[in-house]
Amino acid sequence: MRLANIGNRAALVLGTAGSERTLDVADASAGRWGPGLPDVFRNWADVTAWAARLEAPADRLVTLDRARLGAPSPAPSQVFAVGLNYHAHAAESGFAAPTQLPPVFTKYVSSFSGPDTDVVLPPDGNVDWEVELVVVIGREAHEVTEAGAWSYVAGLTAGQDLSERLTQLRGPAPQFGLGKSFPGFSPQGPWLVTPDEFADPDDLELGCAIDGEEVQKGRTSDLIFSVPRLIEALSETVTLQPGDVVFTGTPAGVGVGREPKRFLRAGERLDSWVDGIGELHQRFVAAPDGE
Ligand code: ZN
Repeated sequence: MRLANIGNRAALVLGTAGSERTLDVADASAGRWGPGLPDVFRNWADVTAWAARLEAPADRLVTLDRARLGAPSPAPSQVFAVGLNYHAHAAESGFAAPTQLPPVFTKYVSSFSGPDTDVVLPPDGNVDWEVELVVVIGREAHEVTEAGAWSYVAGLTAGQDLSERLTQLRGPAPQFGLGKSFPGFSPQGPWLVTPDEFADPDDLELGCAIDGEEVQKGRTSDLIFSVPRLIEALSETVTLQPGDVVFTGTPAGVGVGREPKRFLRAGERLDSWVDGIGELHQRFVAAPDGE
């Protein structure tokens, strides 16, 4: 099942790539579920069972309008982001790979957006790219084990953990949350894909390109902490709630790890993808004068 956020309403995505059609969940369920995404995640088991039985009424299908897509989980109770979760990225960042627990921080939800956006570059900032697999939680999870952890996942989506490196590293200790939370710094989408849709949800290719030049490419099978291990590790401490969002970490190839370092410039386009999910498209614009 694929689930999209279209103008803050939950919609099933049907059809093949390039000719997707959508079905509004609240309309199709006569108001039982939705209209927003949070209600769908709160009732995840019931909604997925309903959707599996549903015969989509042809007269309610609408041609997908990508411009209306929002983040698949736009109002999570918690957002987790994981650092240094690929060996080659830990090395390019100058850190040892984590063994017990990777660094965990947050991206504030005001930075969330849908998949196709213009992003304003903060003045005097060094804005970097980090393509990531993003997990949305489907049921409450506390002290769960790796073996059963996939059953707590609603689905997967593509994300960019855009990061302003000066803010992130300024001061006596790193400021990950603020440096990664400027407006538009957490584009996600194009929609959520349930784990059963993948041949192997633990092995997905992901990457991104600037103006067509590939800068990152990796596979989630190279994650140091896989999705199930992350859920086990996070849920040792916190209680994960339906709709919670986890950015799982980025593979090698970020700008700050290059020699010379490279950051995003106004006018550049960043295209990101996760195999079996879809693409994100960001265009970067300069901050207006006087800001
Ligand atoms: Zn990241």
